[in-house]
Amino acid sequence: MMSLRPLCDRCESREAVHTLHLTGENLCGECLVQDVRRRVFSLLEGLVEDGDLVAVALSGGKDSSLALYLLDEYRRAGRRSFRLVAVTIDEGTAYRRSGIKAARELTRRLGVEHVLVGMREIHGIDVAEIRALLPKGWRRSACTYCGVLRRWAVNRVARELGATKVATGHNLDDVLQTHLMNLARGDVPAIVRSGQGVRSPSPLMVPRIRPLASVREREVAAAALYLGLPAHFGKCPLTTGMRVGVRRAVDELEARLPGIKEDMLRGLQSLADRVRASGSIKVELGSCRLCGEPTTGEICKTCQMKLELQELAGRPLAFRWSPGPS
Ligand code: SF4
Ligand code: ZN
Repeated sequence: MMSLRPLCDRCESREAVHTLHLTGENLCGECLVQDVRRRVFSLLEGLVEDGDLVAVALSGGKDSSLALYLLDEYRRAGRRSFRLVAVTIDEGTAYRRSGIKAARELTRRLGVEHVLVGMREIHGIDVAEIRALLPKGWRRSACTYCGVLRRWAVNRVARELGATKVATGHNLDDVLQTHLMNLARGDVPAIVRSGQGVRSPSPLMVPRIRPLASVREREVAAAALYLGLPAHFGKCPLTTGMRVGVRRAVDELEARLPGIKEDMLRGLQSLADRVRASGSIKVELGSCRLCGEPTTGEICKTCQMKLELQELAGRPLAFRWSPGPS
């Protein structure tokens, strides 16, 4: 039977599996991965330094799995001399179970140390319990609590491990959505603080890098699939809130104006660079009165949320965490 798929526009020998949105080029799996690798490696040149210990926040989803895989390739290529460790936070949801399985398999395959820590172990509560506790019509969703509590946990665990960078799997679509959400909330300081390779706003905050920031979500999925990475491809069923609407709106805009995603991201980043350079926004963070972690106010967002949850749960939750004996 004849194949209906066109040949790859680059190698002209293998079947195309993906069309690059910007150029309309049809690419086979191999050429797509090469293209993605080139973009990621060129970003990493400016983000990873010799001697770094990079903690990859590995959920077991396609994005963080590809980020870890390419960081490991970059390291093996000898471009920089650095170490890797993968950190997975188990939020306690049924969805995360398959991600944890995939994370274990990938780290074993790559020979990367894998640290798995339960959200309950760190915060005294997990997302399954948060879901059950929230009254109908509550002002925040379980997803909002989860995102904030998990970010705190990743930074804390990475710092305990001595990591000098935290790498996340955020792709181009994720980064743009986050910027737009911050813009809609009027939180310009958050945009200014979030630049790649920007000095950390607090010695307690491990600088974050996003190796996939120039790769679209669909490209990540196609590359991870082609590479046969053990990864979870579904979306967390608890995803709610503003991000879902922003993602839909940006996708609709992109369908009418191809390339607008890259344009908007570039525009927002250059705005952030200018504001940062002007020094008009204070980006340094203080320490939270309850947990000691970095915050813009007196009590960090995580602790504010935990105070609400404590009330709902009717029991005290720990506000300071230190790893138990291993
Ligand atoms: Fe947690 Fe929301 Fe992410 Fe699901 S989508 S893992 S609930 S932050
Ligand atoms: Zn706090």
